[in-house]
Amino acid sequence: MAISASIKVKKPISDFSGPYFLSIAGKLLETDDSFDVLNPATGRVLARAPAATAAHLDEAIAAAKAAFRGWSALSYEDREQYLNAYADALEAQRDDLARLLTLEQGKPLATMAVPEVDQSISWIRKIAARRIPVEVVEETADHVVELHHTPLGVVGAITPWNFPVLLALWKVAPALITGNTMIIKPSPFTPLTALRFGEIAQAVLPPGVLSIVSGANELGSQLTEHPDIAKISFTGSTATGQKVIRSAAGTIKRVTLELGGNDAAIVLPDADYRSIIPQLFWGAVGNSGQWCVGIKRLYIHRSYHEGFVEAFVDYARQQKLGDGLDPTVTVGPVQNRMQYEKLKDWLAEIKANGYKVALGGVVDESRPGFFVPVTVVDNPPEDSRIVQEEQFGPIVPIIVYDDVEDAIERANDSPFGLGGSVWGRDRKIAIAVANRLETGMVWVNEIHTQGVDIPFGGHKQSGLGTEHGNEGRQLFTNPKTILIHKQ
Ligand code: NAD
Repeated sequence: MAISASIKVKKPISDFSGPYFLSIAGKLLETDDSFDVLNPATGRVLARAPAATAAHLDEAIAAAKAAFRGWSALSYEDREQYLNAYADALEAQRDDLARLLTLEQGKPLATMAVPEVDQSISWIRKIAARRIPVEVVEETADHVVELHHTPLGVVGAITPWNFPVLLALWKVAPALITGNTMIIKPSPFTPLTALRFGEIAQAVLPPGVLSIVSGANELGSQLTEHPDIAKISFTGSTATGQKVIRSAAGTIKRVTLELGGNDAAIVLPDADYRSIIPQLFWGAVGNSGQWCVGIKRLYIHRSYHEGFVEAFVDYARQQKLGDGLDPTVTVGPVQNRMQYEKLKDWLAEIKANGYKVALGGVVDESRPGFFVPVTVVDNPPEDSRIVQEEQFGPIVPIIVYDDVEDAIERANDSPFGLGGSVWGRDRKIAIAVANRLETGMVWVNEIHTQGVDIPFGGHKQSGLGTEHGNEGRQLFTNPKTILIHKQ
């Protein structure tokens, strides 16, 4: 099969101010309505994004349904070629995609945006090479039983604003390689990178295989309700995840939910805490704390409390808050005004309750953009909101414990169960603690390592189902058992 990787997008991608188009059925569509997308570093309008109507969504779904017949009938090898051509086409636009990502999301270009785009591209290539083989689950003299995994149909992907490229392409690659077609609805706060990688897809993939529709939250619920959507792969908040399950019930859609978290890091009494401060800091404050698996509660032992807080604050003071395009900046703005206002409320509450603030705590309101300083809260009470809830910003509660058993109990006493980490010199003890955390992922003496073969997903209210690994890929398929009599 000849696969063309030539890019025929209407406008060069480096036109960051637009225009931007919906990508539907191999075409780039303009819409009557559009909405503002802000640059969080300035608070000013960066571009206008097309607002898809329900009719656009219907058109995209019809095209995806039509494309499914041909796409699902291709061999894995043919689909692999298409995905590799798509990865090549994205790579050709990598610098501009990364810059656009910083412009719409705020994250520092070199340390966050470029790695996000690069990881997404390499993810597509790695997944393209993965297969779900047919398994013989039983064989006797008389019969053989095969387990196949067949694609579901049209998958709807709904994504948030913290990692707009990675979290979307994490869904695209496994959905497409297993034979599904897909519609992505990006967050209205960060639709631009998705619209651009959608344009690139139209030049490489068969029409209808991957469509991008941007618009308000209502578009998300129209997608989850639509009878021709076989599965919703959702990443976002737990509150919206609950709505997704409810609305998927009507047509018994498959649902994978990657939701919020309140990850605890437990630093054990024997930890060489000074050497791990950078990992803990970036684990909490990377992406300005807007990370589902970010460290949101940092439990430390009383024996080194003072030294730890001092070292953590020293490291934090070396960071520079500012526009992610500035190469000297290491911490960008938070992504949107809603999150900015929420974080200001957290800070007001911390102040009103008299919790000890070891660093930060005050937002410079005269500064344009959505800048929240790195804030370290020293030993707030366990029942405070900053410990109990997901802050999703650069505010780090450092909480003192005396007894490891108590730290484990406090870490587990949460409706969330996404990730967590354990840090200590004695690896056996650290692993034993990790085994007791009630979460989908636990890192031991490392943080946030991920990979295409490493299952990723939350327990409790942090999610349903898994992404990545065989488990994650299989969730884009239906198991189908074929029982064959041999005579
Ligand atoms: P959100 O739930 O507000 O929005 C996520 C997406 O859902 C957006 O595209 C939004 O437009 C859409 N949406 C909103 N209402 C909808 C509805 N009724 N039906 C269908 N779709 C709807 O989340 P957010 O604020 O964009 O993202 C932050 C949250 O995402 C945090 O809680 C964070 O922990 C979580 N998150 C989880 C993971 C993970 O892998 N577990 C990764 C990143 C972010």
